[in-house]
Amino acid sequence: MLQHNNSSGIRLTNCHSFREFSIFALLFIAGLNYTMKNLIQEIDLLPQEQPAEESCAVKVSAEQNTGKARKLYIESYGCQMNFSDSEIVSSIMQKEGFDTTSQAEHADIIFLNTCSIREKAEQTVRNRLTHFNGLKKQKPELMVGILGCMAERLKEKLLEEEKIVDLVVGPDAYRDLPKLISSADEGQKAVNVFLSREETYADISPVRLNSNGVTAFISIMRGCDNMCSFCVVPFTRGRERSRDPHSIVAEARQLFEQGFREVTLLGQNVDSYKWSAEENNKAKLEKAGVSEIVNFAHLLQMVAEISPDLRVRFSTSHPKDITDEVLHTMARYENICKYIHLPAQSGNSRVLSIMNRTYDRDWYLGRVAAIRSILGEECGISSDFIAGFCTETEEEHKDTLSLMDLVKYDFSYMFFYSERPGTLAAKKFEDDIPLEVKKRRLSEIIQKQQHYALERNKLDVGKVHKVLIEGFSRKSDEQLQGRNTANKVIIFDKGNLQKGQYVNVLVTGCTGATLFGEVVD
Ligand code: SF4
Repeated sequence: MLQHNNSSGIRLTNCHSFREFSIFALLFIAGLNYTMKNLIQEIDLLPQEQPAEESCAVKVSAEQNTGKARKLYIESYGCQMNFSDSEIVSSIMQKEGFDTTSQAEHADIIFLNTCSIREKAEQTVRNRLTHFNGLKKQKPELMVGILGCMAERLKEKLLEEEKIVDLVVGPDAYRDLPKLISSADEGQKAVNVFLSREETYADISPVRLNSNGVTAFISIMRGCDNMCSFCVVPFTRGRERSRDPHSIVAEARQLFEQGFREVTLLGQNVDSYKWSAEENNKAKLEKAGVSEIVNFAHLLQMVAEISPDLRVRFSTSHPKDITDEVLHTMARYENICKYIHLPAQSGNSRVLSIMNRTYDRDWYLGRVAAIRSILGEECGISSDFIAGFCTETEEEHKDTLSLMDLVKYDFSYMFFYSERPGTLAAKKFEDDIPLEVKKRRLSEIIQKQQHYALERNKLDVGKVHKVLIEGFSRKSDEQLQGRNTANKVIIFDKGNLQKGQYVNVLVTGCTGATLFGEVVD
């Protein structure tokens, strides 16, 4: 198994998903002088809509010593939502008398917080269980739990198939962990995969794992009501519900007081955030006739007003839901970053229709035009694309390429279609595009993206950018790196600067992935 560890605890496992294929293709096509580790790290820093597509990203709990009696080791797979959930789990476990450890060998309990969107992500988890079997032989009292999407998808079947597993806990059942652990302590295997219509863990203050002390993620909603036909998320994470905005603001303010300078508001579909004091379940709320609704634009404003020195980002936007009100709110506050991840998935309206994306090509281009007119040419836009979805013709694939020509994305996550059991597409359509064709279409999409990433970065050369310093550059302790408002990484000499500071940087050069510059104040 190929593994990379880095200072933030991200590990890459060699599970041959498309994500790796795309990374190899990126390396090949762009000819960039980038290592695999560099690319993975950069990509991992961006949240995205299809969390579980990040099947090869793994985060491991950090070492924490507050004198607790027992040790918890968590490996978290997949998306940023999952990584944030692991921070909630750690908080619940801390109250139960567990510190975290970065070494599975030192743990009294091991949790795998899993991802289900790609088969290989699940296979990776099964391989890890085989590895942990060896540890359990040496330490029979060691407890092993499966959390997250795979727990939700497979339920009790996991206990039958994987004898080492003691606990199976779905994403809405983490409050039940203390009870489930005491059952397991008494020798009984325990399962809770109940999907809630209300749970948001609003009152739980997450224990920050793998933190750089500058940027943090805040979960603002859970679940998804969209039912895109390729996606397993609505089945593993349940109905959409929004978290109390006052608890979100309190968490962001506390982070700011602790020295954090950037928060990313996270949800599967943030533009659909809706909360009222009477009802937080979106479907019920829309029928209920409640007195006052807080929408995503209001929430953005509330968080932005904590301090002009706290940057606010968000992910992920859905093209059908992103409103002009959100764009105008972004324009009004300098500290709301000018960057939008707006997954297109395809540039063809028929394919979008069978993907059940509920918008067409013209609607999507209309939203991009609104972003450009309200936020200007410099606002960063990124996307997700799926090559070779069921029945996609050559002409329809070309529509994706021509959409890319029109939008000129700064960045994209690019995959070829892989069918997941239980999704609407698996039930309704044949996965009929040959693998070789999918790969060729994908490489054309990647090639196009590389072209526009470089073109867009060149536009930044010669301009001064406000950068929030996140830490040392990955290649040298003599250089620092941070991001501009459009989420682009900029590298410059360290001088006397430190992470957490804002600095103005004149960009003097670029590759397709990174900007380079010098501090000008
Ligand atoms: S159903 Fe669609 S909008 Fe919801 S998480 Fe999946 S891809 Fe995203």
